[in-house]
Amino acid sequence: MTLDTIVIGGGVSGLATAYHLKKRGHQVAVLERQARLGGNAISEHRDGFLMEHGPSTMNALVPAANEISTELAIDDRRCDLGDGIQNRYLVSNGALSGISIGALGFLRSNYLSPLARLRILAELFWPHGSPGEDETVLSFCTRRFGKEFAERVMDPMVAGIYGGGRAADLSVSAIFPMLVALEAKYGSVTLGIMHRRREGGKMPGSRLFSWQGGIATLAQTLARSLGDSIHTGATVRRITPDGAGFAVDLGSAGSLQGKSIVVATQAHVAAQLLPGVDDQAAAAAEQIAAPPLAVVFLGFARSAVEHPLDGLGFLTAAAEGRNILGAQFCSTMFPGRAPKGHVALSAYIGGARSPELARLPSADLIDLARDEFKDLVGARGEPVMAQVRHWPIGLPQYRPGHKRLIAELDTTHERQPGLFLSGNYFAGPSVATCLSVAQKTALAVQGHLENGQGITRQTQGGGHIHHQNGP
Ligand SMILES: Cc1cc2nc3c(=O)[nH]c(=O)nc-3n(C[C@H](O)[C@H](O)[C@H](O)COP(=O)(O)OP(=O)(O)OC[C@H]3O[C@@H](n4cnc5c(N)ncnc54)[C@H](O)[C@@H]3O)c2cc1C
Repeated sequence: MTLDTIVIGGGVSGLATAYHLKKRGHQVAVLERQARLGGNAISEHRDGFLMEHGPSTMNALVPAANEISTELAIDDRRCDLGDGIQNRYLVSNGALSGISIGALGFLRSNYLSPLARLRILAELFWPHGSPGEDETVLSFCTRRFGKEFAERVMDPMVAGIYGGGRAADLSVSAIFPMLVALEAKYGSVTLGIMHRRREGGKMPGSRLFSWQGGIATLAQTLARSLGDSIHTGATVRRITPDGAGFAVDLGSAGSLQGKSIVVATQAHVAAQLLPGVDDQAAAAAEQIAAPPLAVVFLGFARSAVEHPLDGLGFLTAAAEGRNILGAQFCSTMFPGRAPKGHVALSAYIGGARSPELARLPSADLIDLARDEFKDLVGARGEPVMAQVRHWPIGLPQYRPGHKRLIAELDTTHERQPGLFLSGNYFAGPSVATCLSVAQKTALAVQGHLENGQGITRQTQGGGHIHHQNGP
């Protein structure tokens, strides 16, 4: 039998694409290599703790995130950020510096030098300068807001969103297109923001939520709605075009035929599956790096931690020379993350800043995180819970030239009708953005199935500034 669509990859991107297609009456199969669905989204319950080994937050300002929660009838299990969040923290000279949440937080705090704060204000009048071809975030922010802001605020923020990515390596137009557009239109980002606010225009941002059972609730509910369309333990070895569509080789498990294919894997897997099918897309996918990352979850008795933990967590600028990129105060963020009388913390280690650390054995990573937490939040004694998740392939890095790569990947179906790609390397790594791309992918696949033509899918330009700690 030839299926309408075969979706390769049972992470959020693959599950959501398949969900939208099945909802519209198409016959789909989702093939997932692992026994477990959800890809990066792993929420583990143990001894009263709820550990997020991958994503921990959803951005409610991306419509696709709310829509799917409502459609799947899991709104009653949603939880918003806890009331205990008063500050954002950055490490400054070896200690946490609390910066009040709100637009003027950085101007009011001593985290930046008085000169750096004046330089931020001067952005309003600062001449345009000469942006390079595809400028990096570091170059853009240094040019507009000064070196100190770029290195001590933007670099750690980018590391938090892009799995330890460095502002010096990432393309500002790929990840913060709005900043570039505001400078181009108004000559100043600050002036642009003021204009947009006055006109009632929305700025990208984030409002974070999760579900009581963690982010895996989304994958589990999507999987339930897909029922017997899901096949776990099914590793796709090869895709071959045939007359009516494509054949998918599952090794000793046989093969499947589909009129269309959605490759919803990580970019490096797309790069392995596409040669011979679409060499141009394979070459583009191969250029997307995803440095390794490790997440260390530690649970302590409340009395063992001195700090009030009254924030989302903290970020560290590279110049601070810490071993961790940042941390989340998980039990402050959402309810039910730690048993009564306990707190939960997660440390993010590695990324492009220090990939070698992400590869350390679990015991070393736990020691490293404990030392950092002892130093920064006064966490003493033995943790009652310690878990490590290694991500040998972390998050895709949107480096200069990324938009050109995406233009090639977005048009795969024009060169190979019926072949589509979806995932976290198109419009942003957040789960919410993956859901948005999945919606668009499903529409394009539907166009192909119904008219024999893929609707041109535009995934670019949806970058969301996502103020979260941790990647
Ligand atoms: C540590 C960490 C923290 C994060 N924090 C956040 C956060 O707080 N908020 C947020 O919004 N986002 C966060 N993200 C990003 C977000 O989780 C991911 O970008 C998103 O989940 C990616 O989903 P995906 O389905 O595109 O890819 P994946 O989750 O990588 O899924 C791809 C799937 O394809 C499968 N696969 C691969 N090869 C094959 C094959 N040959 N055959 C069959 N199946 C195959 C894989 O097993 C996998 O299940 C975080 C990510 C990480 C790693």
